[in-house]
Amino acid sequence: MTTIKTPRDLPQIDEFIELEELQELQRCYGRAPVLAACRSCIDNLRQRLLEGSTAETLDSLLAAVSAHVKESQNPKLRRVLNATGTILHTNLGRAPLAQAAVDAVCEVASSYSNLEYDLELGKRGYRTSNIEERMQDIFGVEAAVVVNNNAAAVLLTLAALARGKEVIVSRGELVEIGGSFRVPEVMSESGARLIEVGTTNKTHLKDYRNAINDETAALLKVHRSNFLMEGFTAEVSIEDLHALAEETGLPLIYDLGSGSFSDALTPLLPDEPTIKEALDAKVDLVMFSGDKLLGGPQAGIILGRAEHIAKIKHHPLLRPLRVDKMTLAALEATLLLYSDPDKARENIPLLQMTLVELEDLKARSARLAEKLKSHDIDAELEKSTAVLGGGSSPGVTLDSYNVVVNPAAGQSAQMIDKGLHKADIPVISRIVRDRLHFDLRTIKPEEDNDLSDILITVCKRVQL
Ligand SMILES: *Cc1c(COP(=O)(O)O)cnc(C)c1O
Repeated sequence: MTTIKTPRDLPQIDEFIELEELQELQRCYGRAPVLAACRSCIDNLRQRLLEGSTAETLDSLLAAVSAHVKESQNPKLRRVLNATGTILHTNLGRAPLAQAAVDAVCEVASSYSNLEYDLELGKRGYRTSNIEERMQDIFGVEAAVVVNNNAAAVLLTLAALARGKEVIVSRGELVEIGGSFRVPEVMSESGARLIEVGTTNKTHLKDYRNAINDETAALLKVHRSNFLMEGFTAEVSIEDLHALAEETGLPLIYDLGSGSFSDALTPLLPDEPTIKEALDAKVDLVMFSGDKLLGGPQAGIILGRAEHIAKIKHHPLLRPLRVDKMTLAALEATLLLYSDPDKARENIPLLQMTLVELEDLKARSARLAEKLKSHDIDAELEKSTAVLGGGSSPGVTLDSYNVVVNPAAGQSAQMIDKGLHKADIPVISRIVRDRLHFDLRTIKPEEDNDLSDILITVCKRVQL
């Protein structure tokens, strides 16, 4: 085995790159990235030798080049295994798409499409007319618009309906979501003036009524989607707000954000508001997230009365906030699944993970724990709870099971966790009191084997 003891032993780059051992890497990643990695690794080794480091082998230099190329060429945005049990994990991409949505994205992304072409009339079409027709059918609404995310939907709606005028909101609903969506700030960016009514814990219908004047453009209700208020509280229902809106001729806008499609689909989330309730209460406009609420792509969906939607569609902000063809393809495929509740339940990961049978989860978790134990890893099955997350359903916890790993002597949970983040498919777990918790609720059954292989490899490798 060739050893490299001094800088003089370092290989010449032109000869080094031709080594048989580096040919496969070049076929895979191209010559330029491999050459750059060779330079960097040789320079690095030269520096270490000059600083008095002991000899290295040619093999270890080759291994360093290979690792360097992979590190630099593999995508930085990557698939991970979410073993946290938090279904809509804000840091992990919120909702995985249904396979039908993925297929639709691939089909449309890799070819031309009728994105802005009307196949019937044989001339230029409107980008979102197909998806809007779908939403009219599925939700039974007069009109619909789709934009990039729900924050954009709120901004655009307020700008189109209330710029330069007043919008009345309860003080109990001036929420911050995800650290950057804050109702008062979005309101001021839209050019509308926020009129706060009521108090933090209680707002009554008369508070809204008393604030209405000639300058009022709309009533806004915001779903407190990421926190609960308990105790001495009162809020005005959308039904009562609708009555006031109708009486005064003002539009009622409902920022639902998260929640669920209908109670029938999510019996486990009885207190979550649904799109159906909002539409039954005849709000003029309701908006929500395509990913948080539907388990589809990131998008902001606005449903409601045609006269208001027309204003939104003609607002100059619509163009900068519009969605691309991949989002439209994924959204339409997801919406199609909702046209049949059974198809939605069986195919949309958000719903599958929410509604998974506890016994199935227990059996899969037990299998994982046994497998780990058979490799001398100290693992056990424990009851736990999972949450929806993603700034939604704050009061809802779902019974779940965790596989809990106790670090071996000479290991810490942090070290294993770090190793898991560096795995070929990084694994995200939760650490509680120096033990690692893995919840299979947010792992697809077909990923179970990947997870156990990674856990075994990492637990065996990590040493203090
Ligand atoms: C999540 C949420 C938003 C922001 O939606 P994004 O899709 O993250 O832009 C706005 N309002 C409410 C009530 C929400 O729950």
